[in-house]
Amino acid sequence: MSQTKPAKLTEILKSLAANYQIIKVKPSLIFFLLQYMKKFKVLNVGGNLVLHSHLPPLNSKAYSRFVNEHLLQKISGPSHAQIGLTNACPQNCQYCYNKNRHGKILDTETIIRLIRELKKMGVLWIGFTGGEPLLQKDIVKITESAGDDVALKLFTTGCTLTPQLAADLKNAGLKYVSVSLDHWQAEEHDQGRRYPGAFRTALKAIEIFKETGGLHVGVSAVLSREMIRNGEVEIFLGFLAGLEIHEAWLSEAKPSIDVYWNEDKVISEEDRIRLVQLQDRYNKTANMTINYLGHFEGSEHFGCNAGHKMVYIDAFGEVSPCVFTPMTFGNVNEKSIETIFSEMKALFPSEGCCFMNKNYKLFQKYNRGNTILRREESISLMNEVQFGPLAKFFQLFYH
Ligand code: SF4
Ligand code: SF4
Repeated sequence: MSQTKPAKLTEILKSLAANYQIIKVKPSLIFFLLQYMKKFKVLNVGGNLVLHSHLPPLNSKAYSRFVNEHLLQKISGPSHAQIGLTNACPQNCQYCYNKNRHGKILDTETIIRLIRELKKMGVLWIGFTGGEPLLQKDIVKITESAGDDVALKLFTTGCTLTPQLAADLKNAGLKYVSVSLDHWQAEEHDQGRRYPGAFRTALKAIEIFKETGGLHVGVSAVLSREMIRNGEVEIFLGFLAGLEIHEAWLSEAKPSIDVYWNEDKVISEEDRIRLVQLQDRYNKTANMTINYLGHFEGSEHFGCNAGHKMVYIDAFGEVSPCVFTPMTFGNVNEKSIETIFSEMKALFPSEGCCFMNKNYKLFQKYNRGNTILRREESISLMNEVQFGPLAKFFQLFYH
C-alpha cells in the first residue's frame, strides 16, 4: 500500500492544533482522549490521518465537528449512524443480525434526505451496511450526497465490486471500507456464510480496494466464542496481517437472533478482556491496526453507545439503537428521525457494557418469531432493563 505510512508526529500535532478550541474541554477528558489515542498508531492513508475506522480522520472536517458539536456544545444527538442501504444479500450468515427485518425498502431520495437530517443532528460517522450495500444501485450518488464533513465507511462482502465502482466510491468521498472475512480457512468462512466462494470474493475485493489507492482498507471479522477461547484469533490475525490491510475490525457474534440466545455462545467479560489485551499488545508493534469493538465499547473507554450516540436505520426505515438490537422505535417514513431518536435516547442512558450481551434473555422473553420487536414491545422490554454505571468517557463527559 504505497500511499500508507505511519503519520509523522508533526502531522498529528498540526491536525490537533487545528482544533485548538479543544482546550476548553475539561482537562480530565482531554487526558482520557490522549491516553486512548496512545493505544493506536496513526496512519496516513492518502493524506487522511487515521487512528481507526470507527472515528473520523484527525485532519478531517468530521473530526472538527466531533470537537465542536459533541465535546464543546454537548449536543444531544448521535455522533454515529449505520444505514442499511438495501436488505438484499447473496450471503446467508449464521449470525445475520438482519434476518428478521422486513418491509418496504427505502428509496434513494429518502436515504439522501435521512443522511442530511442525521448530519444536522450531529452525525459525523456513517456506516453503509445492508444486506449488501453494493447492491444499492445509487450507492455512489448516496455517497457523494453526504458531503465532506462526515466520515463514511462501507461494510461489504465484496460481491459485485469492480475496480471502477471502487474508484467511483473513493472519488465520491468514501474513506473506509471493511470487507467481511471471518476465518483464515476458505471452507470455514464459506460455511459460516453459507455461500460457496465467499472467501474468494472477499480476497478479491480487498485487492481491488487496495489497488484503488487512498482508501483505508480493513476486514471486519465476526469471531465465535470458540475462536476466542481456543487462541485461534492470533492465527487469524497473522493471516490478516499477510493481506497488508490497514485494519482488522473485530467483534464477537452478538446474540441478536434466536440461535445465539444461548449462554454457550455469548462471550464473558473474561473473553472480552482477553481480546482487549490482545489488541493493546498487538497495536504496540504491528503495522495493521486491531480495532476490537469491545475495546471501544468497554467500561474503561466509551461503553455501549446504542441509542445514545449510535443509531441504526435499516433498509426499511426502522430505527434501532444499533445494528445488533432487533427492535424498532419507529419508522422514518412515519416520523422524523429526530423525534424517533430523542424518544429512543430517553430509554438508553448508555452504560459500560454491551446492551445486547447483557439483555438478550429479555429478547428471548419478548420473542416475536421471525420479526423484530415493534415500538410498543420495545418500550415494554426497556421497562425491564436495568442500566449500570456509565463507561469512563461518559462519566467524565457528564459529571
Ligand atoms: S453479509 Fe451481512 S446482511 Fe448478508 S447475510 Fe451476512 S450478516 Fe446478513
Ligand atoms: S448493544 Fe451497544 S455495545 Fe453492543 S454492539 Fe450495540 S452499540 Fe455495541
